[in-house]
Amino acid sequence: TSAHVQAVEQARALNAYVLETPEKALAMAAASDVRIAAGEAGPLEGLPLGVKDLFCTEGVRTTACSRILGEFIPGYESTVTARLWADGAVMLGKLSNDEFAMGSSNETSCFGPVTSPWRRDGSDAAIVPGGSSGGSSAAVAAKLCLAATATDTGGSIRQPAAYTGTVGVKPTYGRCSRWGIIAYASSLDQAGPIARTVQDAAIMLKSMAGLDLKDTTSFDALVPDFEAAVKRGVKGLTIGIPKEYRAPGMSAEIDALWERGAQWLRDAGANVVEVSLPHTQYALAAYYIIAPAEASSNLARYDGVRYGARVEGRDIASMYENTRAAGFGREVKRRIMTGTYVLSAGYYDAYYVRAQKVRALIKRDFDAAFANGVDAILTPTTPSAAFGLGEKIEADPVEMYLSDIFTVTVNLAGLPGISVPAGLDGQGLPLGLQLIGKPFDEETLFAAGQVIE
Ligand code: GLN
Repeated sequence: TSAHVQAVEQARALNAYVLETPEKALAMAAASDVRIAAGEAGPLEGLPLGVKDLFCTEGVRTTACSRILGEFIPGYESTVTARLWADGAVMLGKLSNDEFAMGSSNETSCFGPVTSPWRRDGSDAAIVPGGSSGGSSAAVAAKLCLAATATDTGGSIRQPAAYTGTVGVKPTYGRCSRWGIIAYASSLDQAGPIARTVQDAAIMLKSMAGLDLKDTTSFDALVPDFEAAVKRGVKGLTIGIPKEYRAPGMSAEIDALWERGAQWLRDAGANVVEVSLPHTQYALAAYYIIAPAEASSNLARYDGVRYGARVEGRDIASMYENTRAAGFGREVKRRIMTGTYVLSAGYYDAYYVRAQKVRALIKRDFDAAFANGVDAILTPTTPSAAFGLGEKIEADPVEMYLSDIFTVTVNLAGLPGISVPAGLDGQGLPLGLQLIGKPFDEETLFAAGQVIE
């Protein structure tokens, strides 16, 4: 822990941590030492972790990287982080993210952008760590924590993991409790780990997962020994390659990486087959209706009364208006406007209801592939490697949304997905491959992920 505390201080230029909690870390580590000496070590005893600033941490400032939460200090701990601490893990601090987890580059955080520890060959230009869990991915890649918590609504665990050469797991919807995690789009949000290896991710997920009566969507499924699954291999498994993911304009490099990944799985004894997910082409459009719709409703609670910041006005309505105008950033406002528009009378059927129908069709595509004997699906995690800081944020927002093209279907269908580092692009930046599994079958993802890693 003390080595990590020092590393965090020395790497402040990356801006990965928005709050360092060294005293808490050292106190937790000392308590760990006592338990180890007493022979009562938990499964994560003494392991130093970073926490995405979307997880409420009792007595420790939690902001979702939005000005509207100000200096909000929760009086409660999220279920997921509480479980990590109960298993002996140590908290190093809070990690940056895109404001309210809306973004793909960690450039919308009110604490400023995070930079990846990676650079293109022969260049000093700053590279984004992905998003929204960019603080988590940068910190894990730069060894500023052993692993980190993250959340994924449309790709925010897997995309930053791919961009930084780390492993990210988005569990099945309901696998981890959402209680105490600041909500973005509640029907899509899931917590999961970003770690250095598949094995570390498996160990961490075991502690994070499980039924929680405080989240009615958390599922009463057995939490298996994910670590045991890591070494299981893929002999006899059937891995699907969705032909529709060969998106026009996908680089030859990504295509080659994908083929290489399929070959590694074949070499390890898997049977690789083509599958069809025909509704994938509508996924991004459906996601950018459903996610903002839910966000506009979830963000209604930030009114200057209940949490954090307030900007006074002549009367209560103008106080709400002033608070929200000053407290939310540009991207968050864009999502609120899109969300309220698609939910408004007269447009609800044309947008929101249709998007929900598309969502059902996407889920059905996956169900059909799994019913045909496919155990997991292999795709690239992203259409390209990480981009430069500032390169996309100033351009058309839709450009940024496209980096989630391979990840959003998984959230819409509620399935588990993992991103595993699979190589470097021509400029020396990491690339990831994604495996998508059946509901509550993260074990197969760990087994197949280990073969690719
Ligand atoms: N980039 C996507 C968005 O902005 C996904 C974010 C996420 O998974 N939290 O909505």
